[in-house]
Amino acid sequence: MKISILGSTGSIGRQTLEVVENLTHDYQVEALTAHSNVDLLEAQVKKFQPSLAVLWGEADALELKRRVGSICEVAYGMEGLKQAASLPAVDLVVNSVVGNVGLLPTMSALEAGKPVAIANKEVLVTAGEIIMPLARAKGVHILPVDSEHSAIFQCLAGSAQPPAKIYLTASGGPFRGKTKAEMAGVTVEQALAHPNWAMGQKISIDSATMMNKGLEVIEAKWLFDLRPDQIHVLVHPQSIIHSMAEFEDGQIMAQLGAPDMRLAIQHAITHPNRLPNPFKRLDFSVHNNLTFAQPDFENFPCLALAYQALEAGGHYPTVLNAANEEAVAAFLAKKISFLDIPAIIDRALSAYTDESKGLTIDSILEADAWARAFTKIS
Ligand code: NDP
Ligand code: MG
Repeated sequence: MKISILGSTGSIGRQTLEVVENLTHDYQVEALTAHSNVDLLEAQVKKFQPSLAVLWGEADALELKRRVGSICEVAYGMEGLKQAASLPAVDLVVNSVVGNVGLLPTMSALEAGKPVAIANKEVLVTAGEIIMPLARAKGVHILPVDSEHSAIFQCLAGSAQPPAKIYLTASGGPFRGKTKAEMAGVTVEQALAHPNWAMGQKISIDSATMMNKGLEVIEAKWLFDLRPDQIHVLVHPQSIIHSMAEFEDGQIMAQLGAPDMRLAIQHAITHPNRLPNPFKRLDFSVHNNLTFAQPDFENFPCLALAYQALEAGGHYPTVLNAANEEAVAAFLAKKISFLDIPAIIDRALSAYTDESKGLTIDSILEADAWARAFTKIS
């Protein structure tokens, strides 16, 4: 099994390489990509010996080529990403880039008939309506890496009927239980300090605003073909139950495990096989108290905005996502406050009028560009 990892220098990308290292030699790395982390990509290339490595900028790619010599080909930019996603030798593409930049490479992978293990939720949020039918038409799987969706995927195995509803569990993030007034002055460092998971910066901020769960609601709609009213969010601070599916007969299936993304990544890579690994097991003598609460839509408006965009459909989820990406980047750059994030997204959704008929990749990219221009924060 030859694997291409888009975003190999990120949190999910690095954990994917750990998973691959722990599997047998049947699993090999064929391509690796990063945005600009030349040093780490160089180390990964030297260790995993792919046939292609990709960076975003041409100068960075030339520098990497100088350092890795004949080990592999080096490409750059969107063309490089698309090449990494569709190399003839590749059997599985792991998409672990962050943001809607992963859209075109995902399309390239599917058009080339490659299954995609997808962590890059932004792409399902904006284009799930196109991606899922394309994967079906090509006869390839979209394998969820996001822990909640991996859980639902596993809960649905073996059932002839779709679920009546699903529960996406949410830790509640670092500000669970806080009011808007208490969150008004929070710093970037406080927002990045997630209680249960160590993740990339963008998803860490999304977890603090609860937009992460909002994006996951939309992601679930496309992955599992559900109506918005079938998708419920349940706050579960321990992050032990990763999500649940309830069937027509009232039976509920839950998937549990240690809060370790490597388990979900391995499941996506080895599906339908279950292979051993050395990762820590769940210890019920420690995790002996599982609690649940309803989400707080009032103090975490991003979750309500995501449901609103999902109900509106069309390009509204794209506008939600792009405005969120811009707002989160501005918050990380300390240009806006934490509570400005939902306000900016709300303004973009209110100002947008979706006049296009039907969704295409071009129309998604146009709506994405509109929302980024509208929310541009200098
Ligand atoms: P990181 O920020 O840690 O990593 C992102 C990766 O993508 C890096 O390799 C980065 O390269 C690359 N990248 C970033 N921007 C671009 C760009 N514009 N063009 C090309 N490559 C780019 O993110 P995470 O690993 O945390 O998250 C990745 C995705 O997985 C996100 O969609 C996130 O929501 C999802 N996810 C993450 C989880 C987690 O535990 N981290 C859990 C569930 C889902 P470089 O290092 O050079 O900047
Ligand atoms: Mg998740």
